[in-house]
Amino acid sequence: KLASREFKPDDTVIRIGDVTIGGEEIQVMAGPCAVESREQLLEVAEMVRERGARILRGGAFKPRTSPYAFQGLEEKGLEYLAEAREKTGLLIVTEVMDTQKVAMVAQYADILQIGARNMQNFPLLREVAKCNKPVLLKRGLSATIEEWIMAAEYIMVSGNHQVILCERGIRTFESFTRNTLDLSAVPVIKELSHLPVIVDPSHSTGKWKLVQPMARSAIAAGADGLIIEVHPKPSEALCDGPQSVTPERFSSIMEDLQKMAVAM
Ligand code: PEP
Ligand code: MN
Repeated sequence: KLASREFKPDDTVIRIGDVTIGGEEIQVMAGPCAVESREQLLEVAEMVRERGARILRGGAFKPRTSPYAFQGLEEKGLEYLAEAREKTGLLIVTEVMDTQKVAMVAQYADILQIGARNMQNFPLLREVAKCNKPVLLKRGLSATIEEWIMAAEYIMVSGNHQVILCERGIRTFESFTRNTLDLSAVPVIKELSHLPVIVDPSHSTGKWKLVQPMARSAIAAGADGLIIEVHPKPSEALCDGPQSVTPERFSSIMEDLQKMAVAM
């Protein structure tokens, strides 16, 4: 299997310009859940860049549970992301939900995100493989590690070996947290696969207070990076406010990571 350690013993390092994912450095992808406006996005982009992030996240197409909830700014959102890249030099990661939108999203994004709800959308996996850009593949809400790796295999067998796995929590009986962060998936993936793996402490917990301790834990477990939701005013966020950290809290997380890098 293409994703397996047996097939390729050495770690895959994904390079985009001077940013590497899966190498020595810990990469942090940060930004709002959704691109809400030009002002909001440019403000967050500047804030996360100043604090050391190299990659900006932000959804323009949002997979919302309710069809009445904010669905994203669509192509306008992608334009704002591209403008934020111009202004800050940050790379862009953004979700694509529809096979017919892959080419369009790929024009703007540096990394294409496949959301948890689409982990086994096989036509979409084959389609994202066609554009020559790294793919961030989130673990499905109730996917086993084996199923998750097989989803990566779909992308790889279709010709794109640049896959980044993202543990974002799984559904369990526990309801205090939004999902249950399966941190053991990180060393398991490292054993079974050569692909980089990052952790999403925002969607896995659903609570901003838990983001910082779980971010530290993810790095201790061996993750290659993090994807964190940051919002200038979480209480006013159109999406996922309760799990979004303020820029101040984000600074504190980045300081923790610095300390851990020195200690490890
Ligand atoms: C997101 O990253 O905004 C998102 C919708 O995540 P997930 O697919 O993991 O729920
Ligand atoms: Mn979100």
